[in-house]
Amino acid sequence: MTEIAIIGGGPAGVMCALNAAQNIDNKIFLFDNGIILNTLLPTGGGRCNLAYAEYDFKELVKFYPRGEKFLYSIFSRFSTPDTINFFEKIGIKIYTQNDNRIFPVSNSSKDVKNALTKQIEKHKNIKKVFEEVIDIQKQNNQFLLKTNKKTYLFDKVVIATGGRGGGQKLAQKLGHKITELKPALCSLITCEKEYACLTGISIKDVEASVFFKNKKFKELKGDFLFTHKGISGPVVYKISSYCAYLNFNEKEPLKIVFNLAGKDFENFDCEFSKLLKKHPQKASVNILSGMLPSNLVLKIFEAENVDPKTRAGQLTKKDREKISKKITNFILHAKNVSKGEEIVTAGGVDLKEINPKTLESKIVSGLYFCGEVLDIDGLTGGFNLQNCWSTGFVAGTQLAQNI
Ligand SMILES: Cc1cc2nc3c(=O)[nH]c(=O)nc-3n(C[C@H](O)[C@H](O)[C@H](O)COP(=O)(O)OP(=O)(O)OC[C@H]3O[C@@H](n4cnc5c(N)ncnc54)[C@H](O)[C@@H]3O)c2cc1C
Repeated sequence: MTEIAIIGGGPAGVMCALNAAQNIDNKIFLFDNGIILNTLLPTGGGRCNLAYAEYDFKELVKFYPRGEKFLYSIFSRFSTPDTINFFEKIGIKIYTQNDNRIFPVSNSSKDVKNALTKQIEKHKNIKKVFEEVIDIQKQNNQFLLKTNKKTYLFDKVVIATGGRGGGQKLAQKLGHKITELKPALCSLITCEKEYACLTGISIKDVEASVFFKNKKFKELKGDFLFTHKGISGPVVYKISSYCAYLNFNEKEPLKIVFNLAGKDFENFDCEFSKLLKKHPQKASVNILSGMLPSNLVLKIFEAENVDPKTRAGQLTKKDREKISKKITNFILHAKNVSKGEEIVTAGGVDLKEINPKTLESKIVSGLYFCGEVLDIDGLTGGFNLQNCWSTGFVAGTQLAQNI
C-alpha cells in the first residue's frame, strides 16, 4: 500500500495530513524534529490570528508580497470562508476584530493547537514520528528518507518544514531551486540614534513614503513605534516585507518619510496656528500634546532648535512652519532589519517549479510542498497561517486523489 511521509508538523503539515487522512486509508507518517504544532503557540501574541476577513479570494491574494499569482488557484479552492468552516467544525469558534483579523473566541492559540491535535488523534492512519529528516533521495519511483534515527522508503513525500526549517536544503538536493531567503515582517534598525529615548512610544495611523536610491518605492499606512534600535509596528512590518530584497544598508539606507499627522503640511500648519492663537499663554510644546505623544513633540522641538517653553503667542511663523514640516515630513533612514526577530521568511522553494493546482513538484513526481517552505509570504493579519491552511488543504487532497 502506498505510504506517505509529511515532513513538518506545523500548521501546513498538519492541515495536509488531516485532509489526506480524511480521503484515504493509507498510512501517513508525520515527521517532526520538535513538538507538533508548537509553532502555532506564539502566533498572534498567543491569540492565534488564524485568518483575515477578506472573503473575495481575488482580493486576498493582494496581501502577499510573494506568491500573489501562485495563490490564485489555491485560494479559489480554499480561502477565508473555508478556514472559518474548518475551524468551527473542529470546535473552534471564531470572531473578527475591527481590523478584520480573525481569532478564536477563546483568544488562545493553545486551544487551536489542542483542537487540531485531537483531529490528528482521530485519524488512526496518521503516525507521528519525532525524528529529524536529514536526507531524501529519489530511488526509482520511491523516496529513500533518512532521519537522525532510521531510514525509510515512501511513495509520496510532502515537505512542510516552514521558512527556515531545513526543508529548502532537502528540496535543493532533489533538484529544486531556492530563491534567496530573507527576513520579513520585522523591525527596522535606523541610522538615527537620537530617538532611542522614545522607545515604546507609538503613533497611530501614520502615512509612510519609502524611498530607495532617490526613487519612491512604496506608500504605506499603519501604526508604528520607536524601539531602542529603530522602529517597529504594523507599518514597519509592511515596509520590511515589501523591501525585503532591496539590500539597503548604512551607505544606501531606505529613506522613510512619515507623515505623523496624517494631514498635508498646509492643513496641519493651519490647525497648529489656530491652536497657538487659541492658547497664547501655553508653552507651545504643550499645544500639540493632544495630537502626538508629548515626548515626541519635545524631541521635535529640540531637533528643530526651537525652545519648547516659548509661549504659544510668541512662536514665530518660521519656527511654527519648521515644526509643522518636521511633523508632516518626519524622516528616518533604515539601514538594516532586526535579524532573528522576523515573523516570516521571504523566499523558499521556487514557485515556477511547483504546479499550483496540485502543489506537486514539476520536476520530481510524488513530491509535494505546502506552507512557508514555499516562496510565499504575506503581510501581518493572518495571511501567513491562511497560506498554510490553503496550501495544506490542496496538497493533502491532491495527494489523496493521486494515490
Ligand atoms: C512570533 C510569531 C508570531 C506569528 N503570528 C502569526 C499570526 O498571528 N498569524 C499568521 O498568519 N502568521 C503568524 N506567524 C507566521 C506563522 O506562524 C508561520 O507562517 C507558520 O507557522 C508557518 O507554518 P509551516 O507549517 O509552514 O511551518 P512551521 O510552523 O515552521 O512548522 C514547520 C515544522 O517542521 C518541523 N521541521 C522543520 N524541519 C524539519 C526536519 N528536517 N525534520 C522534521 N521536522 C522538521 C519544525 O519542527 C516545525 O514543527 C507568526 C510567526 C511568528 C514567529
